[in-house]
Formats: sequence, C-alpha cells, structure tokens
Amino acid sequence: MPTSTSDDAFAEVKSKVDLVKVVQEHVRLTKRNKDFWGLCPFHQEDSPSFKVNPQMQSWYCFGCERSGDVFTFVELIEKTDKRGALQLLAERAGVELRKLSPEQKERSDSRKRLLAMLKLAAQFYEYVLWSTPAGEPGRRLLATRQVNEENSRRFQLGYAPAGRGFAEYLRAKKRSLADAQDGGLLRRDGTDFFAERLVIPIRDERGQPLAFTARTVRADEQRKYINSPETPAYVKGRVIFGLDLARDEIARRGHAVLMEGQFDVITAHGAGIQNAVASSGTALTDDQVRLLKRFTDELLLVFDADRAGRQAAQKAVLLAASHQMRTRVATVAGAKDPDEFLRAAGADAGKQWEELVAKAPSGFEFGMEEAAAGLNLSNANHVELAARKLREWIAQFPVALQEDYRERAKRWMGVSGHLLAAEPDEKRGPGRPGAYKVGKNGLETSPAGKKMTVGRYLLQLLAVRPVAFDLVRTKITPDELDEEDRGIYERMLETYERAGVSGLEKELAGYPAEEQDLIRRAWAAPPPSVDDEVAVELAGRITLDHMRGRHSGIIRELSEAERGKDSERVARLEAEARELGHAIDEMERRG
Ligand SMILES: [Zn+2]
Repeated sequence: MPTSTSDDAFAEVKSKVDLVKVVQEHVRLTKRNKDFWGLCPFHQEDSPSFKVNPQMQSWYCFGCERSGDVFTFVELIEKTDKRGALQLLAERAGVELRKLSPEQKERSDSRKRLLAMLKLAAQFYEYVLWSTPAGEPGRRLLATRQVNEENSRRFQLGYAPAGRGFAEYLRAKKRSLADAQDGGLLRRDGTDFFAERLVIPIRDERGQPLAFTARTVRADEQRKYINSPETPAYVKGRVIFGLDLARDEIARRGHAVLMEGQFDVITAHGAGIQNAVASSGTALTDDQVRLLKRFTDELLLVFDADRAGRQAAQKAVLLAASHQMRTRVATVAGAKDPDEFLRAAGADAGKQWEELVAKAPSGFEFGMEEAAAGLNLSNANHVELAARKLREWIAQFPVALQEDYRERAKRWMGVSGHLLAAEPDEKRGPGRPGAYKVGKNGLETSPAGKKMTVGRYLLQLLAVRPVAFDLVRTKITPDELDEEDRGIYERMLETYERAGVSGLEKELAGYPAEEQDLIRRAWAAPPPSVDDEVAVELAGRITLDHMRGRHSGIIRELSEAERGKDSERVARLEAEARELGHAIDEMERRG
C-alpha cells in the first residue's frame, strides 16, 4: 500500500501513463480528428458519446456527463478510490511510491500511530462494556434501546468509564499518552474524553476505527452526543457509518439504505436491514456520495420524519442525482426516525420495513409530493403555485434529466406542459415586472399587476351584468368554482333570482365587506369585455379547470394505488381518468 498520496506521486504517475492506452483496455476507441471516441463504459448506449482527448489527457461523456482524467477513469472502472487508482497506475508505470520526504514520512507515521491507538481504544471500550462492572451503565442504555450484545459487538460498541481508565490502561501497556491526546481520546489532564458515555466507533469501509461518537448515560448531561475532533485520520464528511458492515449486503441488494443517525443504522442492522448506513455527523457530502457510488448506484433515503429531515432528503436526492445515482425516499410515518419506527414495530419490524420500502417513491416523485404538499390541486391558483415549485425542483437536477422529469411532472399533476416549461422569467423573482402575457379577452392581464383568475373575472362580469346569470347558471354549478369564489357567487345568484337585475345594487350593503369591495371595484373599473359570449366562455373555462383538477387528483390517487398494488382500485381509477380525459379533450377541442 502506498503510505502517501502526495501531489508529486500523482503528477509523476500521470506523466508516465497514457490515458488513451488505459481506456483502450476497456473501450474500443476510434480516432476522429484529434480525439478518440467510443461507447461509454459508464452508461448504456448504442452510439459513441465517450470522448478521449489525448492532448489534455482528459475524457468526457456527452451522454452521462461523467468526465475526468486517468485517475478518475480508473477509479470508476475499477470501483476503487483515488489511492487505489494511484496504486494501480503506479504499478503499471513502474513508479515507486515510497519516495517520501521527511515531513511526508512523519505525517504518514503519525497517522499510522493514530490509527493503531484508535483501534486499541475501541477494543478497550468494548472490553469495559461487556466484561467489567464499570460497563453496567452502558449495558443498561443498550437494553433500553433494545440493542442486543450480538448486534452491539458487530458495531464494536463500548463504554468509557468515569475517571482515567484508558490512561491507566495505556500506562500499563507502556503506550504513549500523547498519541491518545492527539487522537482526541484523553484530555490534557489524562481523564477520558468520553467518560461515562456509550462509545460508537466510526469506522471506514474496511473496518478501521477513525473516530468515535459517544452518547452520555447521564440524565443530567446537557450534551447528549460528543464526537472526536478531526485528525489526520478522520475528516468529517468523508466517512459513511456502517459501510464496512453493509457493503456486502449493499452489493447483494443493489442499493444502500441511507439514514441520518448511528442509532438508526444499529437498530436497522439488528432488525435484519443490513444494507443500512448513515452519513454520520454531517449533512450528506459530495465525498460521501462518491464513496457510496463505489458500491451502488441506488440509495434508499430514510431520514427523520420532521421538516428538517424531509429537507435533508431533498438535498440528498439532488446531490445523488448530480453523481448519476438513483434515489428513493421512504417516510417513517408515525415515528420521529427509523430507530423509533423499527423499535415500535418490534418483532414485526421486517415486515413493516418491506411495506415501507415497497411504497417508497423515487427521489424525484418525493420532491413533487413535497412541492404540492398542503396545496389543493383542484384550485387553479394552487395548481399554479405547485407548478412553480415543481419547475424550481426540476431545474435543480442535471440538465440531461430535466426533460423527462417535466414530462413526468406533467402527467403526475395532470396539467398542460406550458405550466412546467422552464421560464427565463422565473429567475427575476416574484415581482416579474412586465412578465405577464396578454391573453384572449385580456384574461391573463390585470391592471393591478395581481393575477386575475377566471373565477374572479366571471364574478366581476356578473356584478356589472347580472343578466348574464341566466346563461351562466345553466353552464356551471357553484362547486366547480374555487372555494374562495363560491360564497360570493351563491350570494349574488340568490340576489339575482329573488330581486332581479337591480337587486345587487339594493342589497349590496348586506354583503360581507370584502365581497362589497370586489363588486364596487368591478363597477368602478369593469373587466375588459362584458357580454354574454364572454360569460359563457368563462363558465366553460371554469368547468374545464375543475375537470382538470379532478383529473390530476385521480392521477395522483392512481400512483398511490399502483404503489399499494391495489389492482381493483387501479382499474377503477384508470377508467375514471380515461373517461374524464376524453371529456377534457373534447372540451378543449371545441375550444
Ligand atoms: Zn457515459
């Protein structure tokens, strides 16, 4: 193994290997002008979009947008990391990697000493936990969290006793206390940094402890968890907790289950979910995704159920997508995190877990559901708001995915494509000066700059021309209107039917203030066109909007039913959606 990955070593190896030759061992390349082209080894394709530039010693794929130099190519193709790629290429180029400067040698040696010390500490804590009376508080904590000994030992959980236990142990073994202090295990006065805490080793993908996170066993301790500092051996955000234990199962199942907390992962493994890992200590980072990508192309995200957890899940979806990884998102309903969910399920955990996984939507769909959360998609204004959020969501994905995602969003919401088309105006912010379009009848414009809905327009028209009720009331029922327009419509209709054309003027004072306001403003500044033809057209659009809203409701219900494998409900909803779809087409055709 190389003990150093200095920039010098990379530069030397790079100067001695030819990217074209390395790639040719895996890909058949054809020369075209100055570049070489071939079928990309990292995604499925029929025509070559993988390009190697011999001058720059770089490669790029126009299909999957992966790119890099000879090291990244070897990393990806051999499923190794940067160090592994260096090692392979150095051997090939005959470069000796051990030419280290004195400082490099010192750094490398101190890192090795540190790793040995961390390993020793993990063993010591584990011994204390299971084999000494001092470990009792740790054992009690594990019992309350329903973590048994077998599972604890898998993760090499330990207990750091009060006092100077570890320092005394090191003295007895004639080991250096300074190394333990450097590793963040001892305080300057020799007391245990993790005293009176259950200690969880954070190990790399090969099982080497790099750091610890430790949970207090005391009820009066404010800081529930404390962590090792960053050291030459441990950089936060580069380690995936549980990967050493999960890697085989990840390969077998074809995906990794990514959680937030260490205890989520420990409980998951105890429940038989042995492809579970955690980002551990930080929000998911680029480095962590790259590490996971060596083992799988798919992540199942199971984050905390709260708002922060859902936002973290969305970020993780995007981050994974930028590394060409697929995601799904499972939501632990009724529990605050996966740990609580699995413990509550008890012996039934495996089954409930499978159900949860079966229902998990793709990361993209999860984001769509978040965008529409709390909105009523049978309301035209809400549809527009949701469409805007969806556009923003889609715009954050790699460009190559966006068109397909827009298609899917369109079907999912049951809206027409223009609502989801990327708009250059979007970036100008909510004000969007001058951005609104002049539609037929001036419908989409509004003198106040505020969006006028079809329903509002119709109400204004009816205020100015109540006789139009004769036509309108045969075309629509009040429940086709948006909720906010329904009350005033019914009141105006009732007034008209009882008191005729002049009824509104006489009875207006009895209307709620905001309704009076709307009607008075319509009288003062009537909408652009006030005649029966427009009234009928508006009524038609209201019916159409209402049908579209119902249609998207059915489509959403349909994907739910599909996920739940409820074939009877699927068939019924499909029939309904088809029928409604035809009716909408028919109306749209008649214009
Ligand atoms: Zn590619």
